[in-house]
Amino acid sequence: MTTLIDGKAIAQKVREGVTGRVAEFRARHGRAPGLIVVLAGDDQASAVYVRNKEKTSNEIGMAGSILRFPASVSEDEILATVRTLNADDSVDGILVQLPLPKQVRSALVLETIDPQKDVDGFHPVNVGSLWAGKEGLVPCTPRGCLRLLDEAGVALDGARAVVVGRSNIVGKPVSALLLARNATVTLAHSKTRDLPALCREADVLVAAVGRAKMIGGDWIKPGAAVIDVGMNRDEAGKLCGDVDFASAQGVAGCITPVPGGVGPMTIAMLLENTLLAAAARAGS
Ligand code: NAP
Repeated sequence: MTTLIDGKAIAQKVREGVTGRVAEFRARHGRAPGLIVVLAGDDQASAVYVRNKEKTSNEIGMAGSILRFPASVSEDEILATVRTLNADDSVDGILVQLPLPKQVRSALVLETIDPQKDVDGFHPVNVGSLWAGKEGLVPCTPRGCLRLLDEAGVALDGARAVVVGRSNIVGKPVSALLLARNATVTLAHSKTRDLPALCREADVLVAAVGRAKMIGGDWIKPGAAVIDVGMNRDEAGKLCGDVDFASAQGVAGCITPVPGGVGPMTIAMLLENTLLAAAARAGS
């Protein structure tokens, strides 16, 4: 039997926990943890994500707001904004929504964010801390994947983990987190040979590819834990993951659905990261 890992319910639980801790922070420090999202350009998907981040952060008692810029914004203007936010004591978390307009170098912008306020965890200092096993801010979606595995009671110590996809935002940080939890990790990608056979060895399989239903039930070891990060559209235009959910049923031990799996965890982890950043900055 395959157990469904209910990301929506787990994200709600995380959110409730953060709400209580935000109230404590406000009582202790006389201010709300502040999250600023920088949005440049008119990408429709980004606009929706950013509105959700602002709305959710305010709902739980944080001070969330969006700074909007036109697609024609200069790199200098974005960099100056980030520096101003770095120096603003009421701001605990800075999130620059990607993609940025093409004239603005994303890497330079991300490197300009104060690592202590880098709630996306993409600054090289935080990336280094993650791999070195030091304290730091960890990217939201990968943290969400680990929380889902923990909530599902999946044993990671000594487990064989395969992560498919090596992006900086998902695949690599998920691998680092699994390694830190003593899994034996293989990070696979588009040049990996015999990917189905490799996946079949995995006790924990994380799919972060961006290809609809690429991983079939016959790629999954019976009883494996499957985390599907993919967000794709199938032939009918319906949202689906990288894993063929129907054929994985009955093979996987537990699996995240799409939608309702990893997706809801990303914002929940952003809220938690903002609270962690605020607490670290306030020294409590
Ligand atoms: P990405 O930057 O495009 O990376 C995709 C990775 O998959 C690359 O490492 C690529 O390998 C690998 N890949 C592509 N085709 C492959 C194949 N046929 N076999 C094996 N590996 C293959 O994507 P991403 O940003 O990590 O996102 C991955 C998916 O997660 C997307 O569907 C995205 O929408 C979703 N996502 C969801 C959330 C969420 O909150 N739920 C957050 C972020 C991303 P190479 O490196 O060799 O090219």
